Amino acid sequence: MTQQPPGNPVPHMSPDQFRRLGREMVDFIADYWQSLEQLPVAPATRPGDVFNALPGAAPEAAAPTDEDWNRLLGDVGRLVIPNITNWQAPGFYGFFPANISGPAVLGELLAAGLGVQGMLWRTSPACTELETRVLDWLGQAIGLPSSFMSAANHSAIPAPVTQGGGVIQSTASEATLVALVAARRRALSHGADPASLVAYASTQAHSSVLKASMIAGLARDASDHTRLRFIATDRDHALDPDVLTATLRADRAVGLTPFFAVATVGTTSSTAIDPVDRIAAALAADAAGFTPWLHVDGAHAAAACICPEFRHFLNGVEHADSFCFNPHKWLLVNFDCDCFWTRDRATLIEALSVTPEYLRNTATDSGQVIDYRDWQIPLGRRFRALKLWFVLRHYGIQGLQAYIRRHVALAARLESLLAAMPHIELTAPRTCNLVCFALKARPDADQLALMERLNATGRFYLTHTALPVPAAPDSAGGSSRTRVTLRVAVGSPHTTEAHIDELAAAIAHHSNHVT
Ligand code: PLP
Repeated sequence: MTQQPPGNPVPHMSPDQFRRLGREMVDFIADYWQSLEQLPVAPATRPGDVFNALPGAAPEAAAPTDEDWNRLLGDVGRLVIPNITNWQAPGFYGFFPANISGPAVLGELLAAGLGVQGMLWRTSPACTELETRVLDWLGQAIGLPSSFMSAANHSAIPAPVTQGGGVIQSTASEATLVALVAARRRALSHGADPASLVAYASTQAHSSVLKASMIAGLARDASDHTRLRFIATDRDHALDPDVLTATLRADRAVGLTPFFAVATVGTTSSTAIDPVDRIAAALAADAAGFTPWLHVDGAHAAAACICPEFRHFLNGVEHADSFCFNPHKWLLVNFDCDCFWTRDRATLIEALSVTPEYLRNTATDSGQVIDYRDWQIPLGRRFRALKLWFVLRHYGIQGLQAYIRRHVALAARLESLLAAMPHIELTAPRTCNLVCFALKARPDADQLALMERLNATGRFYLTHTALPVPAAPDSAGGSSRTRVTLRVAVGSPHTTEAHIDELAAAIAHHSNHVT
């Protein structure tokens, strides 16, 4: 990165060139943000369009001048921008948001520029200690009990003091996997037979629970549900704790060992809130020797808990062993940033720690420091706490509360506009910023056709799901039928009342044209 001496064949970018081009790149990004309103939300790209427009091999010759860089930026404008889905666009309502902010992007840039690896405390003390502190801040801000914090009194050196603590994982999927292996470690340390272990989640739990089971050897493939029980949900699509209790009893009666359960705070299909307190009670009842590990997956919706009026989502979390949510979904921090807390760091570390000689150092041996490599799957780790710190410093808790409340209010606005349309049915309770709806008494194909028509306008991007059809009140057991429903997740920083009204008007218009 230093200025090259004459004759050096390596065409590094000098700090001065980086300064110039970096400013241009920041301008490019700011211009992109300002153009989001005009861009189609999803591109009309056909498979192969981008691949075929690129040369078959990497360039042989270096192209390091400012003019070369301008050509590269031209290619970004020609090839990349028209062929991306604009996730930050005001009309992006698909999946869950992956929203970003200026402070987070600058934090990401700084992390890249510093280029440190934070796998051990020793390899970058600030990378570890800043992360420990901001995870405590964020945990407090969403109402997690102090048993999940690294610093019991929020000022002491953390490591030897408490049993809990937080860490940034890459994704909620990884959080589930590390929770599952910690759960297995707890069960095995109590003498459980590995072949008898059984896990539990609702039928509405995210697919990452099944994937974690496949990776950990609990499920042979995605169709193998013998050791991961999918528990039926109630009429609101939340896990039914009575069904869980009955399943746990039946499993224990035949000699199986319940060891792990996932409660979802904000299911992917409909943001249903599983009753964490009742699930914890069901797991603790009749537990022999040890209580199964309860992981709470709040990937999207738990961001709302930064507002006191949504903290009831986490009722009972004090009985859970781990909890996570993704500021990279709905709290203005760029992907990737999953915040994961546990009350039982010792078991987590026992499950994940391997110490070859080349990682040994005196700080680790002193027992006074956290080595986050022992809390995660990879060894290496980026300085992700910077972007979270920047967002917390820039917005403050009050700014983040205002942000969440605005989206919830916009979703409520859409909900009431749709509720007034006689041909539209709201298909799930709205718990925060997701509105689920369908055309009344119309087949799945019509729901999908409506979605395609809306998305083809270029103004919106909606995605769909399938929700269980509630069983008739007098029938025994749950229904296995599902119906397609459309989802509107309000989560772009740029969405306004006018965008919501435009969407509602388009739904009214296009639903009359679906045959
Ligand atoms: N859990 C829930 C409830 C989700 O909705 C999602 C994604 O939408 C995930 C987990 C997976 O998130 P990630 O991409 O961080 O693994």
